[in-house]
Amino acid sequence: MQTTLAPQYQGTPEGEVAESVLRACVHCGFCLATCPTYQVLGNELDSPRGRIYLMKQVFEGAKPTEKTQLHLDRCLTCRACETTCPSGVQYGKLLDVGRALVEHAVGRGAADALKRNALKRGLTNPALFNVALKLGQTSRRLLPAFLQRRIPAAGRAGVWPAPRHRRKMLVLEGCVQPGLKPNINAAAARVLDRLGISLIAVPGAGCCGALAHHLNDHEESLAAMRRNIDAWLPQLDAGVETIVMTASGCGATVKDYGWQLRHDPVYAEKAARIAAAAKDISEVLLAERGALLSQAAPGAARTRKVAWHPPCTLQHGQKLGAGVASLLADCGFELTAVADEHLCCGSAGTYSILQPDIASELKTRKLASLHAGQPEVIVTANIGCLVHLESNSHVPVRHWVELLDAATAG
Ligand code: SF4
Ligand code: SF4
Repeated sequence: MQTTLAPQYQGTPEGEVAESVLRACVHCGFCLATCPTYQVLGNELDSPRGRIYLMKQVFEGAKPTEKTQLHLDRCLTCRACETTCPSGVQYGKLLDVGRALVEHAVGRGAADALKRNALKRGLTNPALFNVALKLGQTSRRLLPAFLQRRIPAAGRAGVWPAPRHRRKMLVLEGCVQPGLKPNINAAAARVLDRLGISLIAVPGAGCCGALAHHLNDHEESLAAMRRNIDAWLPQLDAGVETIVMTASGCGATVKDYGWQLRHDPVYAEKAARIAAAAKDISEVLLAERGALLSQAAPGAARTRKVAWHPPCTLQHGQKLGAGVASLLADCGFELTAVADEHLCCGSAGTYSILQPDIASELKTRKLASLHAGQPEVIVTANIGCLVHLESNSHVPVRHWVELLDAATAG
């Protein structure tokens, strides 16, 4: 698409990103068919092509309005459009710079700004989040039904094996996952322990930076990235093999550290090293497939019918997803057919709180697809999708690594 940047954006990092992405788009519209918000709302301006056009206008000098902001806010950042696009348009990179620009120009109303700030503070501070969660869990019966459904019951972690192997990997624990579903990281640690790998968490690492980034606070997001790099690099230097992600949302972000910090003279190289060392737990287990399968014992766990929901951050963000399905099938689980696997469930970070109507419609559609094959359990790979789907599912929803834990427990 021919693009002439307004003078104020020419030669700026944002302008360069926008220009290269906009030039790649040929406006064919193939991406509309796989865009969840276009499917729900049917408005071209809520499609990838429509949003690209809105951002083109802004980068060419048009003044963005609240309407521009609304259509960009409604984007899930699921990146299904990138998977579909035959021209390789990196829509997500354009949205990053476009959203920040529009936010700066249009601002936010007081209530909206307060809500976003509360989400940023509350969800990235595990101590604060866990206190609020415990409060919600203990007073659950006093809450209205819709809130009760949103607060998962307290879970137990089970044993996290003490480090005993020469081979070591780091885990990014996540902000909300240890409180909401403490068994996920412990299950990953047990599976890896059986394969001769100790999984360890290091103090000093924290939020991956995704939440602040998606709420357009890029400085806070970059600060979180630098803090994690400082915590992890000495461990890599000491021989730790990999940084393992059990939440695909965090994984997609950490793998992007090199890009996000590319202009930082102190951190650019370090960030690229961390990004290269980051792996989703499925990548780690696929590399250990032979040993893993030798551990998978026949038994009840092998016969369970499973519906697999690949999160957008896994299938579109990291271009992974098929690996999990093949590992589950190899371990004896029967995977049910799920229609429209490529579509977002509506969770998308804070999206389900900020855009509840669209998120709820997408969840209803996703659960209908997942329930259709009458599974005994639904599995996914991201804590956000898990609790979002769980709140309305009559079938239990778990992280897939918990199933592998059960299948290899002996
Ligand atoms: S983003 Fe890709 S699929 Fe969508 S209109 Fe542009 S070139 Fe076509
Ligand atoms: S990221 Fe998802 S919601 Fe946003 S335009 Fe692309 S397909 Fe649509």
